[in-house]
Amino acid sequence: MCKSIPTVDGAEIQRRLHELAQISVLPDRLWRPSYTPQEGQARRLLTSWFAQAGLSTRLDAAGNLLGRAGGAGQVTLIGSHMDTVKGAGAYDGTAGVLCGLAALQTLLAHFGPPRAPVELVAMVEEEGSRFPDASFWGSRSILGQADPALLSCRDEAEVTLAQAMADAGFDPARLPDARRTDLARYFEVHIEQGPVLEHRGIQLGVVDTITGLGTLAVEITGRANHAGTTPMDLRLDALQGAAGLVLRLPGLARRFQNATATAGSFQVFPGSANVIPGRVSILVDYRAPDPDDLARLGREIDQAAHSLEAEGYGVTTQLRMSLPPARLDRGLGALLEQCADELSCSSMHMISGAGHDCQLFAGQVPSALLFLPCRDGRSHCPEEYAAPEDLARGAQVLAAALYRLAWQET
Ligand SMILES: [Zn+2]
Repeated sequence: MCKSIPTVDGAEIQRRLHELAQISVLPDRLWRPSYTPQEGQARRLLTSWFAQAGLSTRLDAAGNLLGRAGGAGQVTLIGSHMDTVKGAGAYDGTAGVLCGLAALQTLLAHFGPPRAPVELVAMVEEEGSRFPDASFWGSRSILGQADPALLSCRDEAEVTLAQAMADAGFDPARLPDARRTDLARYFEVHIEQGPVLEHRGIQLGVVDTITGLGTLAVEITGRANHAGTTPMDLRLDALQGAAGLVLRLPGLARRFQNATATAGSFQVFPGSANVIPGRVSILVDYRAPDPDDLARLGREIDQAAHSLEAEGYGVTTQLRMSLPPARLDRGLGALLEQCADELSCSSMHMISGAGHDCQLFAGQVPSALLFLPCRDGRSHCPEEYAAPEDLARGAQVLAAALYRLAWQET
């Protein structure tokens, strides 16, 4: 069945990825945050490619780009995001959009319109690189889960999300119009962003679970004072307290299977070499694929922070973001595995340690996530790379699954 589908051109997918990656708000590295003129430019380029493939295109009220094939009915949605982190590579997000496009282009050219509708989506603001509190804004909008309170969150230049949307030509008041109630299922192809597939020499990863995550903001207050005149035993150095907490994180995470804890954002106040730090703000990212483990890990990190109060520090904590783990659909996962087998591609089951739009969809419709190997497991950096043959394999397996669901069955 799958073998009758013509071969997808991986070099063409890669060429387009590199063309898109030229569109950046920074001159020397890739950053394409949402609702910027550069995102608009990328969206117009994608729109022209969607149309060339035979898709009818439209923008929804959140700014997600959609391309549709087929008539009325429950929709199979495929895609990923088009925004990037600061200093990104060319593959995160857009590889999923362009593998989906290649799959659809091949199917439409060879078999004509599907019996059941298929849509390809390129979503806004998955990364939260412009509005950290509004990550997954595009997928949340499609699912009717975009919290209107977040419209007042601000970027580094103090522009609100509502204003950024308006500047890009989208009316925030119309956001509820982006909601879809006609989705049958969701597929996402994504680079693994880790080293497992490459290390094990396996071509594709079928994701069973996307890990849950929490972001805990911790503020530790000590006493700022002169670095030269304050004896060591008469200080309350907020950074010493914060460092103690950070050193405890690996031990806390190791108590739970496949859990992680990372203090990746650290601000020291007042931030002078000759002043004892008076205050430190940390963001702790913690993740676990099991919901109970995630809740316990979050509690234990919170307790570890508050234990510094016994040493005289002031401590406040605030849960800034929380996403439960997502179990992906077994039936769709088995279909991807079967299509991979039929195309003689090796595959394995995996847990995703990174968050993806797919985990939002999984809460409402059967959803599947297919991982491609990326060189040295590197991502969110300019070295990010996936080989043309790996991109082609992802698109080919997706095409085989779509063919079965939307062209053969109704
Ligand atoms: Zn991504």
